[in-house]
Amino acid sequence: MRYLGCVLGISAILLIMAGCSVSKVYQERQFLAMDTLISVELSGTEENVQQIQTIIDELENKVSTTNQNSELYQINHRMANTVVLSDTVAQLLHDELEISETTNGALNPALYPISLAWGFTTENKRVPSEQELAALLPKTNWRQIQLSGNQLTLMEGMELDFGATAKGFASDLCATYLREQGVKSALLDFGGNVYTIGDNKEGEMWKIGIRDPWDETAQNFAGVLESTNEAVITSGSYERYFEQDGVRYHHIMDGTTGMPAQSGLVSVTIVCESGVKADGLSTALFVMGLEEGSKYWRQYGGFEAIFITENGEQYYTEGLIQRYEPSLEKKAEVIYQ
Ligand code: ADP
Ligand code: MG
Repeated sequence: MRYLGCVLGISAILLIMAGCSVSKVYQERQFLAMDTLISVELSGTEENVQQIQTIIDELENKVSTTNQNSELYQINHRMANTVVLSDTVAQLLHDELEISETTNGALNPALYPISLAWGFTTENKRVPSEQELAALLPKTNWRQIQLSGNQLTLMEGMELDFGATAKGFASDLCATYLREQGVKSALLDFGGNVYTIGDNKEGEMWKIGIRDPWDETAQNFAGVLESTNEAVITSGSYERYFEQDGVRYHHIMDGTTGMPAQSGLVSVTIVCESGVKADGLSTALFVMGLEEGSKYWRQYGGFEAIFITENGEQYYTEGLIQRYEPSLEKKAEVIYQ
């Protein structure tokens, strides 16, 4: 196979395109948004691409934790305990809470005070003391989030963050728009969060390279997945981290300890039709680990998963057998129902 193009850099999933025929209606664009290099390619119009960028910018303006004009910033700096949300933010929070419920809080939108203490959003990365974390944990009880329609009530001191689901949610919004526009072929890559529509320009399924967590050049794959009409979203501990006194601290938090999750995994990829679900579950199953994550898949289904463990082994669910080709040297095993 010839690899003619791939999206590199901060992307956790690389795109592989074979062939080089150029169609006039084929649009490609890259831009920065949501702290990520976003790549769009689609068979459509210049306006379609422009509109994708607008959809993403509008969502970012609602859910940024740092932009003082964002809706989320206003929520986190509210004057009263109850606030009225836009439909978009209400939907996103609703979707995330559903996953919090089924994962027993492995996905927790109320962990923001913890992420903030670690400095992952502000770039002042540091290791908070045990006392500091113990004082913050009571503010992260997601079961105290009351969402009724668009009305949100939060206890004092609670703060939300959609870092774990916003990119997947954005890909759903873009995919809905593209389908409405009759776009039959598209690939959206939000730095490791991919959404595919139809086939590629050669009329074959899109081929998505799952990043090799140990390859800092981000050019090698742990495997290649054939994909169409779905989200393929990876959460990895290599995405954002810092080191202090020889210890590596990453950005996916275990809400029971307030520490980076140590579940024995380095990445989890979720494949399913819903981007918000794939994004939420990739974070949640990373926190839960291989055993709990496999149990969750067996219990709920409706998605496929690829787990990569700290010792370089891969485990992928049955539904991917026909279309996932693992390429790491270590063992690759199928998880059966
Ligand atoms: P990425 O941004 O690398 O795609 P994820 O989708 O895994 O990563 O989401 C990680 C982000 O989600 C963190 O940067 C933080 O904002 C937030 N977060 C971290 N841990 C959790 C958690 N357990 N539940 C919900 N959100 C989390
Ligand atoms: Mg996620």
